Amino acid sequence: MSSRCTCCGRRLEWRPQNPRQRYCRRAICQNERRRRWRKAKLKADLDYRNDQRDSQRSWLEKHPNYWVDWRSRHPEYVERNRELQKARDRVKAELAAVTRTGAVLAKNDACPDKSDEISVVYELLPAKAAELAKRLLVGLWPGHLVAPGPCRPRSP
Ligand SMILES: [Zn+2]
Repeated sequence: MSSRCTCCGRRLEWRPQNPRQRYCRRAICQNERRRRWRKAKLKADLDYRNDQRDSQRSWLEKHPNYWVDWRSRHPEYVERNRELQKARDRVKAELAAVTRTGAVLAKNDACPDKSDEISVVYELLPAKAAELAKRLLVGLWPGHLVAPGPCRPRSP
C-alpha cells in the first residue's frame, strides 16, 4: 500500500485507527476524497441517485429564484452559454438539412472544375447522419464543411 496521498502525493502519516487511509488531512484532499466518493456512489447506486435528485428538486421548489439570481450575478456565464448554444443550434440545423434533403454538404469552391489538370475525379457519397454529427461535434471540421462523406474514384 502506498504511503502517499492519492490526491496531492505528499507522504501520509500512518494512523493505526485508519490503516487503509489514502488521503492526507488537508482540506483540499479531503474535499477531493468526498467528491470522488460521491461520483462513484452516484454512478453505482440508483437509490442514492434518486434520493439526490429528489432532494435537489425539493430544495429548488423552496428556492425558485435561485437560478435567476445566480445568472444575474454571473453575466459572463450567461453570455458564454448563449454563444455555445448558438454553435450547437448551427450544428443541429446543418444536420437537419442533411437529414431532410439527403444532400451532401460541400464547399462550392472545394473542387473547381479544372478537368485538364485532374487525373482522377472523386464522387461524394452521402455520410451517415450519426457519423456526420459525431465529426461536427468533436470539431473535426471547424468553419466550412468540406467533403463530409467518404470519397471514391468515380467510374467512367
Ligand atoms: Zn493530500
